[in-house]
Amino acid sequence: MRPLVADIDLDALRHNYQLACRCAPQSRSVAVIKADAYGHGALACAQALEEHAPAFAVACIEEALALRQGGITQPIILLEGIFSADELSLVDTHGFWIAVHTQWQVDTLLAATPRQPIPVWLKVDSGMHRLGFDIDEAAAIWGQLSAAPSVATLHLMSHFATADAHDNHYFSQQMAQLETLARELEAPLCLANSPATLAWPIAHGDWNRPGVMLYGSDPLEVANEITQQLQPVMTLRSEIIALRELEKGEPVGYSGRWRAPRRSLIAVVACGYGDGYDRHAVDGTPVLVNGQRCAIAGKVSMDMLTVDVTDVPGAAIGSEVILWGKASNGEILSVDEVARCCDTISYTLLTGVLPRAPRRYHGRSD
Ligand SMILES: *Cc1c(COP(=O)(O)O)cnc(C)c1O
Repeated sequence: MRPLVADIDLDALRHNYQLACRCAPQSRSVAVIKADAYGHGALACAQALEEHAPAFAVACIEEALALRQGGITQPIILLEGIFSADELSLVDTHGFWIAVHTQWQVDTLLAATPRQPIPVWLKVDSGMHRLGFDIDEAAAIWGQLSAAPSVATLHLMSHFATADAHDNHYFSQQMAQLETLARELEAPLCLANSPATLAWPIAHGDWNRPGVMLYGSDPLEVANEITQQLQPVMTLRSEIIALRELEKGEPVGYSGRWRAPRRSLIAVVACGYGDGYDRHAVDGTPVLVNGQRCAIAGKVSMDMLTVDVTDVPGAAIGSEVILWGKASNGEILSVDEVARCCDTISYTLLTGVLPRAPRRYHGRSD
């Protein structure tokens, strides 16, 4: 059997969720498990958080239905709302909550006669310029929705463009607009993503929406004492399948990008871009071999990558290789550090791990 596995530590997931709750003791935290829980398996993650999280958030109704079919009974919020009017009857049947960000969604809701009123999060655009109503349109729509028999509770929702940045005025601008609007409407708020949950208490609302931090990634530009307590949930693990001794100057892999600066021992690892490992990984990207940090040497191939293990005592066929996550000796390689070496972010690496790397679950699944 090919040794590549994505180990998922459900105890770490619960630890990180509880950390999000402790950051914002006045808020309820909806666990964001869209995109198959950022590649970790949405149903397994929802089951692991079932006793802790009062609600879950996904991107679309397909993701929500899969959770219901898996037996998840909590409220599930559709962060982009419905994609067509006929989805509203499924929303009603399954008790989903919806974001409303555009006029046809409002019209559909106002015309609907659901069996039970639907909880709605009205999304305003406070500067992200992606989804949502302009701030100055929001009051009128808020008035319509709050008077509608098809609407149950109503929240004001918005998303931050720069909450991860350490020092920024744009966040404060977005926040100031939202505070003014919320005061005017006396609206309960749902604003904070992971970085705002971790770094901006002023943005904590009735609900927060932590996502990536639940999986142990630190979304902040500058780590703080809370983010240092995050634990990796996914460990992408494989093994050495071959070793090769090279003379000084000999190249490795496609286009010979890496050349041995000395006599070198190169390990071939069963993991490549066909598994979702990023092909943009530069020479020097860290991996752990037998729990010891070493560096990628040469371009990533489809099924394999190559690592300089010259300085790793005992490196042998079958040795443990951690692409990110936690090694058997407790050493941690953060997915954030790997992402920087691939000129990307943890989100793309985690969501990019393909089904070819089987997920294997650990920890209590209650
Ligand atoms: C994905 C998403 C989140 C979670 O963001 P993180 O940065 O992963 O915490 C929160 N809110 C909305 C609207 C989202 O789409």
